Amino acid sequence: MTTRAVVIGAGVIGAATAHRLAEAGISVTVLDAGGPTPGTSSATFSIDVTHLKTPHSYFLLNQRSAALHRELEEEIRAAGGSAGWRHPAPLVQWGHTEEEQRTLRARTERLAGWGHPCRTADPGELRTLAPGVDPAACRAPELVVHDEAAWYDAPLLARTLLDRAAALGADIRYDSPVTALLLDGGRVRGAEARGRRFEADHVVNCAGPDAGRIAELAGVRLPLRQIPGLVGESTPLADPLRAIVATPGVDLRPAPGNRVCAISWPVDALLTPTAETPVPPEADLLSRCAALLPAFRALSGTRIGVRPVPEDGLPLVGPHPQAPGLYTLTTHSGVTLAPLLATLAAQELTTSTPVPDLAPYRPDRDTSQPIRDESLAVMSGHRADA
Ligand SMILES: Cc1cc2nc3c(=O)[nH]c(=O)nc-3n(C[C@H](O)[C@H](O)[C@H](O)COP(=O)(O)OP(=O)(O)OC[C@H]3O[C@@H](n4cnc5c(N)ncnc54)[C@H](O)[C@@H]3O)c2cc1C
Repeated sequence: MTTRAVVIGAGVIGAATAHRLAEAGISVTVLDAGGPTPGTSSATFSIDVTHLKTPHSYFLLNQRSAALHRELEEEIRAAGGSAGWRHPAPLVQWGHTEEEQRTLRARTERLAGWGHPCRTADPGELRTLAPGVDPAACRAPELVVHDEAAWYDAPLLARTLLDRAAALGADIRYDSPVTALLLDGGRVRGAEARGRRFEADHVVNCAGPDAGRIAELAGVRLPLRQIPGLVGESTPLADPLRAIVATPGVDLRPAPGNRVCAISWPVDALLTPTAETPVPPEADLLSRCAALLPAFRALSGTRIGVRPVPEDGLPLVGPHPQAPGLYTLTTHSGVTLAPLLATLAAQELTTSTPVPDLAPYRPDRDTSQPIRDESLAVMSGHRADA
């Protein structure tokens, strides 16, 4: 039976896990190496990415989690807290080439078959959906519009859930890098940070891109890659952007304070250590933003976020047969997935009964299969074999 848990990491995944465990009456200690949300969860694009997900079972997992964001906000408000990290906004997409348009159309048809609301639209609709966007930036014959999309304020999500966890008794400790796991005959019985030992029935590894290092402390290898991304924010705009705009060159979404948040896959390709860097990535990102949204004239700041990306694209969730007591919960698209994965993991940890929904995501599965998740394929420039 689980009565004490140590959660390593206070990003969106660790925060959501600590919240659910504390809610179940577990005595929870959260240990984070940095200050509040220092990790990927504060350098992310954080939109609902359900539309990019394959295979169908993984799409459904994302869809359920996106719905849970709404329920979680209501739950927190009903408990007297404040919530407001979820921002509904339409998502507008188009391609630059015929091939890109074909890919978008095929995805739209697949999503329609899966009951996911999305439609094609005349490019003229861009003027009402995203009035500040330069109409000349779209030469495609049609747009794809997801009317029920959303973006998330990920640092606010993590803060809100950590506050709720603390109100339920969780002990949240920043500046507490875990440097060792407490091992007893191969079983993980806690973690050590700053020379202090924290004993627990389970250690939950929510260290995001650093989850592999934590697993190594127990002699376990995680099939996890780190993929960096440059995230830029505009200065405040007089006419705020109201839609999420996704193009092959740059993606934009509204951000708090009437700003706009931007990422670009072509710019991210320049961040890999082996790539040539003809223009500084920040300048490249800004010129792409300004070409799409002329009011985006300056970057108020940029950050490099590191995506924790499992080798086959699907989340890593569950115990390790070789290291009982250690439970891993890490994934890319973690902002979308945090509410559901944390709920299912907490259920598994508190009942000691495997949750069937998590069966495809065990950390010790064979990840050498071809890429299964279309969002990973988009990232890698490959097509998914959905
Ligand atoms: C550019 C970019 C765009 C993205 N776009 C989206 C998107 O549109 N939609 C979406 O859903 N997701 C998106 N993601 C992915 C998403 O942001 C991540 O999956 C998510 O933030 C991961 O959260 P996490 O809590 O697992 O990790 P993190 O937020 O990194 O938290 C891990 C924490 O662990 C701590 N830690 C590490 N090592 C130790 C240690 N030894 N001891 C103690 N603490 C430690 C770190 O300090 C950190 O705070 C994007 C990511 C990037 C980089």
